[in-house]
Amino acid sequence: MDVKMKKVKTTRPPDDILKQIEERDKDCVYCHGPFIKGDNNASATVEHLNHRKDWDSVGCYIAEGKDVSKIVARCCHACNSSRSDKSLLEWFKTPYCTSKKIKIKYDTVAAVVRDYIDAYEK
Ligand SMILES: [Zn+2]
Repeated sequence: MDVKMKKVKTTRPPDDILKQIEERDKDCVYCHGPFIKGDNNASATVEHLNHRKDWDSVGCYIAEGKDVSKIVARCCHACNSSRSDKSLLEWFKTPYCTSKKIKIKYDTVAAVVRDYIDAYEK
């Protein structure tokens, strides 16, 4: 495959990838709550699975010809702000994840999140 190498500094995935992600992640990839437009907690947000603030993962992925949809997902506003910049495995240990009725952990999150953890956090 011929991949054009260009340095793209962006944290926003391209529109076609965003569309793919929208079709894949019908509810929150973490708590599986339904997305509710305009709701402070349940509205859909674009989540970057990587937690390194200094690493422009989307731009790097595009430049390296990698699949951006593997490091970006959709989650609810509440999960996104709770996780903030923690690594996923670190975040799973916080009260937000452990005290929920449906606990948020490796076994309960969407496949895209598990794949990311397998690749980068294990
Ligand atoms: Zn959620």
